[in-house]
Order: sequence, then C-alpha cells, then structure tokens
Amino acid sequence: MKRNWKALILSTLLAGALVAGCSSGGQQGDAKKDDGGKPTIGVAIYKFDDTFMSGVRSAISKAAEGKAQVDIVDSQNSQPTQNDKVDLFINKKVKALAINPVDRSAAGVLIDKAQKANIPIVFLNREPLPEDMKKWDKVYYVGAKAEQSGTMEGQLLVDYFKAHPTKDGIIHYVMIKGEPGHQDAELRTKYSIKAMEDAGLKVEKVAEDTAMWDRVKGQEKMAAFLAAHDNIDCVLANNDDMALGAIEALKAKGYFQNGKFMPVVGVDATAPALKALEDGTLYGTVLNDAVNQGKATTNLATVLALGQAPSKDNVGYDITDGKYIWIDYKKITKDNINDAK
Ligand code: BGC
Repeated sequence: MKRNWKALILSTLLAGALVAGCSSGGQQGDAKKDDGGKPTIGVAIYKFDDTFMSGVRSAISKAAEGKAQVDIVDSQNSQPTQNDKVDLFINKKVKALAINPVDRSAAGVLIDKAQKANIPIVFLNREPLPEDMKKWDKVYYVGAKAEQSGTMEGQLLVDYFKAHPTKDGIIHYVMIKGEPGHQDAELRTKYSIKAMEDAGLKVEKVAEDTAMWDRVKGQEKMAAFLAAHDNIDCVLANNDDMALGAIEALKAKGYFQNGKFMPVVGVDATAPALKALEDGTLYGTVLNDAVNQGKATTNLATVLALGQAPSKDNVGYDITDGKYIWIDYKKITKDNINDAK
C-alpha cells in the first residue's frame, strides 16, 4: 500500500512536471500565435536587380521586424508579371499591398484590383498619375520629390563651375537619363539644368541619351559621347549607377589620372557611389533616402493592414493631402559624406 502511495506521488509529480513542460511549450505556442497574428503585407518590387531598390527592399524588411509579415516578390521588370503577383497576393488575402510599379501608368489597373478586394495599396518610388491616385481613398504613395533631386544635382555643378569657370563661359554638358516616363528621369533632367540656368550659368547640351538606370549602359553611352565629342565639360546622370558607368568610360580616356578631371554628378548616394566620392572620381550626388522610404512604406502599410486610419502619430511621417509621404533629398559631396552613411 505504502509503495503504491509513493508511486502515486511520484507519478503525480511527474505529471505535474509534464504539465509544466507543456505549459511552457504552450507559452511558446502563444508567442507563435502572436507571430501569426502579425498582418501580412504583399510587396512587389519592379525588379530586384536595381541598386537603389535593393536598399529600399532591405529597409522594408528591417522595419517590418516584430510588427508585420512582409512577402516581397520580384516583378522582373515586367508589368504583366507584376499584375499576376498582385493577383496571387489578393488570393492569399494579404492585409495590405506595397507596390513599386514597373510601369507607373499601369497603377490604375492595380488600384482596381485592390479596390475590388478592399485591400489598401501603397505605391512607392514610381509615382502613379494624379488621376489614378484619386481613384480610391485607400491609395497612397511614398516617395521623394523628383524636382528637388534635380535642383540639388544642378546646384552641385553650380558650385563646381563658379569655382572652375570654363574657357568660353559656356558649360557643355551631357545628360544620361533613366527610364523614359519615370518621374525621376524626366524631372531630374529638367530641374538640374534649370538650377544651373537659374544660378546664371550658360549651359549647352552636347548630347543626351537614356541608359535605363543601368551602370553598364551608362558606360556604353558615355563612351559613345566621348568618341563623338571633344568639348564635354561635365556629366549629369539621373542616378549613381549610370554616373559610375560614365566614370568608367572617362577612366578609359585617361580621366581621374594625372590631374585630368571632369565633374560627374548622380543621385542616390548608394554605397559604391560614396566610395567613388571618397576616391575623388564622382564629384557629387544627392541622397535618395532608401532607409526612410522603406520604413515609411512598411509603417504606413502596417497601419492600413490593421484597419487603422493613418496619421503622423501612428506612421511616424507627415502625410500630405491624406495620401502622400514625401522623404527629403540631400546634397552630398566628399565634405558631408557621413550624412549619407
Ligand atoms: C533611383 C534609381 C532607380 C529608380 C527605380 C530612382 O529613384 O534614383 O536609381 O533605378 O528609382 O525606379
């Protein structure tokens, strides 16, 4: 009998231990449930193979840690592919969409899809046309003012040429453009030149072509410009990748050696561009703040996914006209390089 009591006590203790074990496992289970409770956001990037968007992409993931589940897909630079990916997100019942459109004029189609499924949609980096932004009240845009980047890029060259005037007083420039139709390509091209003219400089275009935001194409276009013209004073590129490509072509012609220099300016302040600033090849760039653009996108999409009304308080950024979050650009040269790091 005594033995049986002992056995009973032992088994009770054992059972208790097991229950305790289970309950701690249960807590883990609850934690997992919390994880599962985080809203899922479907994110489609126009193409993964874009230096600047890679920075935005990692900022989105980082900002989502602990508060949202982000499912990020590559649209492979194809609008039909992106449309299919958005359909998949909708079928999976994501709670919000964050889309970097391949073709910004196709935003209307995506908005229709999102509205039909009642899933709020945040566009980023490629700004939909105003008429599309007005189609539905759950449409938002996170980006940066393209005019501002153009103006700052032009001002970098104003500083340079005020200190180093050209022989005939005219600045002969070449322009390497991003993708035609992209607001950043069109407006950076326009406002960079406007800033130089507004500062009283006389400018003359030697050549202009698109290199589609791409470094290798930037190098090819610059090599062609150098082969055809011998009066180029400076290079304006709509982004850093193309500026770095142009620098390669200039190096092949003896620039950046033995005191031979030509100012090249870009936009983005990517890591390789900062390295080129330090090396003294890139003259200046404009910080396109990938970290804050990614963070604002995640914060806004999370608030929307939770069914809340977005405001500065819950998103952390000013919202203009109820729909837009604008992240400021900043001029970067060798002197303030740390502001971009
Ligand atoms: C960036 C480019 C990038 C493009 C992608 C622009 O804002 O400056 O580097 O290729 O966005 O849409």
